[in-house]
Amino acid sequence: MIAIFDIDGVLADKSEIKHLNCRNEREREIFENKIEDLPLTPLAQIMAFMPYHRILFITARRDATREKTEQWLNKNIGLTYPYYSQIYMRADGDDSPSANVKERALGIIKDLYPEEDIIVFEDAAACAKMFKENGCTVCHIFRGHK
Ligand SMILES: [Mg+2]
Repeated sequence: MIAIFDIDGVLADKSEIKHLNCRNEREREIFENKIEDLPLTPLAQIMAFMPYHRILFITARRDATREKTEQWLNKNIGLTYPYYSQIYMRADGDDSPSANVKERALGIIKDLYPEEDIIVFEDAAACAKMFKENGCTVCHIFRGHK
Protein backbone atom coordinates (compact mmCIF):
# COMPACT_ATOMS: atom_id res chain seq x y z
CA MET A 1 0.00 0.00 0.00
CA ILE A 2 1.07 3.54 -0.71
CA ALA A 3 0.33 6.27 1.85
CA ILE A 4 0.31 9.79 0.47
CA PHE A 5 0.50 12.69 2.91
CA ASP A 6 -0.22 16.32 2.16
CA ILE A 7 2.05 18.54 4.25
CA ASP A 8 0.38 21.90 5.01
CA GLY A 9 -2.66 21.44 7.22
CA VAL A 10 -1.96 17.74 7.63
CA LEU A 11 1.55 17.49 9.07
CA ALA A 12 2.33 21.21 9.42
CA ASP A 13 0.02 23.49 11.41
CA LYS A 14 -0.88 26.49 9.23
CA SER A 15 -3.68 27.76 11.46
CA GLU A 16 -1.86 31.05 12.19
CA ILE A 17 -1.86 31.99 8.51
CA LYS A 18 -5.09 30.34 7.47
CA HIS A 19 -6.34 33.65 6.07
CA LEU A 20 -3.86 33.53 3.18
CA ASN A 21 -5.33 32.19 -0.03
CA CYS A 22 -1.92 31.99 -1.75
CA ARG A 23 -3.26 33.29 -5.03
CA ASN A 24 -0.55 35.91 -5.31
CA GLU A 25 3.21 35.71 -5.12
CA ARG A 26 3.56 37.56 -1.80
CA GLU A 27 1.09 35.38 0.08
CA ARG A 28 2.55 32.22 -1.40
CA GLU A 29 6.02 33.22 -0.21
CA ILE A 30 4.76 33.91 3.32
CA PHE A 31 2.98 30.56 3.37
CA GLU A 32 5.90 28.54 2.03
CA ASN A 33 8.60 30.25 4.07
CA LYS A 34 6.92 29.79 7.41
CA ILE A 35 9.37 27.06 8.26
CA GLU A 36 8.70 27.25 11.98
CA ASP A 37 5.25 25.68 11.62
CA LEU A 38 4.49 23.33 14.44
CA PRO A 39 3.88 19.72 13.54
CA LEU A 40 0.38 18.33 13.88
CA THR A 41 1.35 15.43 16.06
CA PRO A 42 -1.67 13.11 15.55
CA LEU A 43 -0.89 12.73 11.87
CA ALA A 44 2.83 12.51 12.50
CA GLN A 45 2.13 9.66 14.93
CA ILE A 46 -0.06 7.86 12.41
CA MET A 47 2.76 8.11 9.90
CA ALA A 48 5.22 6.70 12.41
CA PHE A 49 3.12 3.55 12.61
CA MET A 50 3.30 2.99 8.87
CA PRO A 51 6.93 1.91 8.43
CA TYR A 52 6.13 -0.94 6.10
CA HIS A 53 4.20 1.15 3.63
CA ARG A 54 5.59 3.33 0.88
CA ILE A 55 5.20 6.89 2.17
CA LEU A 56 5.06 9.69 -0.36
CA PHE A 57 4.26 13.37 -0.05
CA ILE A 58 2.24 15.42 -2.49
CA THR A 59 2.29 19.13 -1.69
CA ALA A 60 1.32 22.22 -3.64
CA ARG A 61 4.43 23.97 -2.31
CA ARG A 62 6.74 25.03 -5.10
CA ASP A 63 9.79 22.99 -5.93
CA ALA A 64 11.94 26.00 -4.94
CA THR A 65 11.05 25.19 -1.32
CA ARG A 66 12.16 21.55 -1.53
CA GLU A 67 15.23 21.96 0.66
CA LYS A 68 13.31 23.89 3.34
CA THR A 69 10.53 21.32 3.22
CA GLU A 70 12.99 18.45 3.66
CA GLN A 71 14.61 20.31 6.58
CA TRP A 72 11.21 20.84 8.19
CA LEU A 73 10.26 17.17 7.82
CA ASN A 74 13.59 16.15 9.29
CA LYS A 75 13.46 18.59 12.23
CA ASN A 76 9.79 18.32 13.16
CA ILE A 77 8.67 14.87 12.10
CA GLY A 78 12.03 13.15 12.30
CA LEU A 79 11.84 11.98 8.73
CA THR A 80 14.77 11.65 6.41
CA TYR A 81 15.14 10.05 3.03
CA PRO A 82 14.73 7.09 2.42
CA TYR A 83 11.98 6.73 5.06
CA TYR A 84 9.88 8.60 2.56
CA SER A 85 10.77 7.95 -1.02
CA GLN A 86 9.59 11.06 -2.80
CA ILE A 87 8.15 14.54 -2.33
CA TYR A 88 6.02 15.62 -5.29
CA MET A 89 5.87 19.42 -5.52
CA ARG A 90 4.45 22.18 -7.69
CA ALA A 91 6.81 23.07 -10.53
CA ASP A 92 8.21 26.57 -10.14
CA GLY A 93 6.08 28.94 -12.23
CA ASP A 94 3.07 26.60 -12.27
CA ASP A 95 0.03 28.56 -11.05
CA SER A 96 -2.50 25.78 -11.56
CA PRO A 97 -5.01 25.08 -8.79
CA SER A 98 -3.57 22.76 -6.15
CA ALA A 99 -5.95 19.94 -7.09
CA ASN A 100 -4.62 19.99 -10.67
CA VAL A 101 -1.01 19.98 -9.46
CA LYS A 102 -1.73 17.07 -7.16
CA GLU A 103 -3.72 15.13 -9.77
CA ARG A 104 -0.70 15.22 -12.10
CA ALA A 105 1.53 13.92 -9.30
CA LEU A 106 -0.98 11.17 -8.54
CA GLY A 107 -0.92 10.17 -12.22
CA ILE A 108 2.86 9.71 -12.06
CA ILE A 109 2.54 7.61 -8.91
CA LYS A 110 -0.20 5.43 -10.41
CA ASP A 111 1.94 4.85 -13.50
CA LEU A 112 4.88 3.84 -11.30
CA TYR A 113 2.84 1.58 -8.98
CA PRO A 114 -0.25 0.44 -10.94
CA GLU A 115 -1.05 -2.48 -8.61
CA GLU A 116 -0.84 -0.62 -5.31
CA ASP A 117 -3.75 0.55 -3.20
CA ILE A 118 -3.39 4.20 -2.25
CA ILE A 119 -4.51 5.94 0.94
CA VAL A 120 -4.30 9.74 1.09
CA PHE A 121 -4.24 12.14 4.05
CA GLU A 122 -5.39 15.55 2.78
CA ASP A 123 -7.05 18.63 4.29
CA ALA A 124 -8.13 20.67 1.24
CA ALA A 125 -11.65 19.76 0.15
CA ALA A 126 -10.99 20.14 -3.59
CA CYS A 127 -7.89 17.96 -3.36
CA ALA A 128 -9.61 15.32 -1.21
CA LYS A 129 -12.43 15.16 -3.77
CA MET A 130 -9.95 14.78 -6.62
CA PHE A 131 -8.13 11.91 -4.86
CA LYS A 132 -11.45 10.19 -4.17
CA GLU A 133 -12.52 10.56 -7.80
CA ASN A 134 -9.22 8.96 -8.82
CA GLY A 135 -9.92 5.83 -6.80
CA CYS A 136 -7.91 6.55 -3.66
CA THR A 137 -9.04 5.92 -0.11
CA VAL A 138 -9.08 9.41 1.41
CA CYS A 139 -8.72 10.52 5.02
CA HIS A 140 -10.00 14.08 4.90
CA ILE A 141 -8.30 16.02 7.70
CA PHE A 142 -10.37 18.87 9.10
CA ARG A 143 -8.24 20.36 11.84
CA GLY A 144 -5.27 21.80 9.94
CA HIS A 145 -6.68 25.11 8.70
CA LYS A 146 -9.09 25.70 11.57
MG1 LIG B 1 -3.01 20.99 2.82
